[in-house]
Parts: sequence; structure tokens; C-alpha cells
Amino acid sequence: MHWHSKLVQPQTLAAPGFKSLATPTHRGSTVLFDKQADVVDAWDQAKGGYSYGLYGTPTTLELSGRIAQLEGALHSFVVPGGQAAIALVYFALCQAGSHALVPHSAYGPNKEMAQGLLKGLGIDVEPYDPLIGAGIADLIRDNTALIWVESPGSVTMEIQDVPAICAAAHEKGALVAIDNTYAAGVLFDAFAHGVDINMQALTKYVGGHSDLLLGTVSVNSEALKQKVGATYKQLGLAVSPDDCSLALRGLQTLGLRLAHLEKSTLTVAEWLSNHPAVAEIFHPAFPSCPGHEIWKRDFTGSSSVFSFMFTEDYSAEQVEAFINTLEMFKIGMSWGGVTSLALVYPNIERPGKDYAGRLVRLNIGLEYTEELIADLDRALTAITR
Ligand SMILES: *Cc1c(COP(=O)(O)O)cnc(C)c1O
Repeated sequence: MHWHSKLVQPQTLAAPGFKSLATPTHRGSTVLFDKQADVVDAWDQAKGGYSYGLYGTPTTLELSGRIAQLEGALHSFVVPGGQAAIALVYFALCQAGSHALVPHSAYGPNKEMAQGLLKGLGIDVEPYDPLIGAGIADLIRDNTALIWVESPGSVTMEIQDVPAICAAAHEKGALVAIDNTYAAGVLFDAFAHGVDINMQALTKYVGGHSDLLLGTVSVNSEALKQKVGATYKQLGLAVSPDDCSLALRGLQTLGLRLAHLEKSTLTVAEWLSNHPAVAEIFHPAFPSCPGHEIWKRDFTGSSSVFSFMFTEDYSAEQVEAFINTLEMFKIGMSWGGVTSLALVYPNIERPGKDYAGRLVRLNIGLEYTEELIADLDRALTAITR
């Protein structure tokens, strides 16, 4: 062979039989077929055989299978991020003329999509009180295709009565999708509580190191698998096998990380709850968290993110100075990684509530707990002087 041909049509030279604990990272767009008659273009490669890298390589599908196993799902679609997962759910279930319900406490970009892209396509997304419970029945219309739940809610941490909402939805023929990111897909068994679609941002706890963006949409019925699958294929939601291999590695330590984060976060929240500058703690394990009793009933644990309110003695400027004074806590969005973060969340909108710049959200990382508390103590003292 000419060396040009040799370069692109190499023989495999490495010896076969490599046995390793790591999942191989398979990259690839084109998939080879043995003969023309074998050529297919189907997204469900577990069933129909590999057809195209867009629908996943063995690395992607390994991650998909492991998440499905953890969540008790029939199938999990791996997509480029949590927000892409939210989009996939909307586009799979809603069409022009559909009505959907989303809690006021939902992840901000979910509501942004509802009022932006979806509105323009004639999909009517109505916000609702996250603590509505069975009362959701009154909001369900003939054309209600989808009800979102997110528990605890983003930043304000309301715990929702998911079983009650699912019962009301199913009574009227609507489907329920959960954003289960807080629970990492494991601290709240969504399908056992009646949910139809279970999504999470793997970006947070499964990735666990602030170095990748991925999301999953899990279903537990064949009908929903086909419905979501058709949309997934048309949207072309390809993910990088390299990111999937990092997520697979993250899964190996998820149990240990969650156990430590829960303990450390509870210690920090407890300390804050006894500080005179703090008016309220919004952490699911604290009675001051809206829906705390439901959390005790439905969850098997808590994770690393929570919020707290300064008392009215503090101005928004002082709270901002507090954030800027922290040293170990970094200032940044997202959470679930190894680094502690603090933020006054911008544009928090909840009907009838004015947080007046005094609501701070923390993500606890893997630093030494007593040093995190010392950092908070130092910053609180500095702004109180
Ligand atoms: C971060 C987050 C998302 C979005 O995840 P990305 O991977 O950043 O797109 C969705 N829902 C919740 C609750 C989140 O915290």
C-alpha cells in the first residue's frame, strides 16, 4: 500500500485481550456495516444494532444503562446537559396548542424556555405554586400535556408533594416529569412516587467535579421510550464519549461523595441556623424548609445545596460584602462539585415574596467542614462590624 493509504487504513497492531477496570472511551461518528443490507438509521441501538455515533457509542450507552439501572428506568437518554434534557422533555410531550404546568420554584432556564422558545411555538406554559399538592387538579385542562415538578425547588428549596401531584395528573390523563437533579437520581425514587419522566443534570453530582456538562431523561414505559426517542433522534442531541467516560468515573464515587456532603452540609447549616445574622434556613432537613414533612416522608437523604436568609438588620449591600469577603467559598453558579460556592441568586422571582437581596445560596464542597464554618464566621463578623 502507498503510505497515504496505509495512514488511513491501518491494521490493528496492539495485542487484543486488554482487561481493565476502566470503561473504554469509544469515539466515532460513522459506524461500519458488513453489507449494504445491514444498513440502518435507528436511534435504539441496543435493539437494532449500532447505526451512527449521533445516537451514542458504547461509552455513551454504558452511561445510559447505568443511570437507568440506578433510577429504576426502562431507558435513559443521555443528552448534552440538564437544560437540553428539559428541552427534550418539552419537545417530546408538547406541541402547538398544548398546555403545561411548571412550578414557580423551577430552575430558571426552564421558565425562560417556557416564556421564550415554547411560547413562540404556541405552547402555553403556566407557572404554579410548588406547594399546591393535590390542588393541582384545578389547574389541569383538557390540553394539559405535561406537569413539571422539581423538588426541592431551585434556590428557594420548596419540597413538593410529588405523589399527590402525580395522582391528580394521572386522573386527568396528564404526564408528570421531574427535575431530579438535587437528589442525583438516587435520594428520591421518582418512579416509585408516580413520576412518568425522570430527568437530571449529570453536570452536578454524577459528574461531581465541575468539569463536564451532561443530562439524562429517563422513562419507564415503552410508549414513552418511543415518544422521547423519536424526538431525541430529530433534535440530534449528541454527547461526547469523553464526557461520558468522566461521568462513568464520577458514578464510582457518587455514594461516598453524597454521604460526606450530606453530613458536612448539615453541620454547616446547623451552625448557620444558630447565628444571629440568619433569619431562616432553607434546607430540606430543617423544619423551616417549606415541605420539610414531605421530604421526611419521601427522601432517603439530603445533598449539598441550600439557602439562607439574612435578618432584616442586613442590607443587600452587606450581603454582597459577605459574599465578597468569603475566601474558601468561591462565587459561581452550578453546584455538586468538590468546591464550596456562595451566591446571592440574581433575579429570584416568587409571587408575593421579596427576598430583597438577602437570600444566599450555598453549595458545600469537600473542604474540611470546620474551615468552611470559620470562613463563614469571619465574613459574617466582617460585615456586622
Ligand atoms: C444545573 C441544573 C440544570 C441544568 O443543567 P446544565 O447541565 O447546567 O444544563 C437543570 N436543573 C437543575 C435543577 C439544575 O440545578
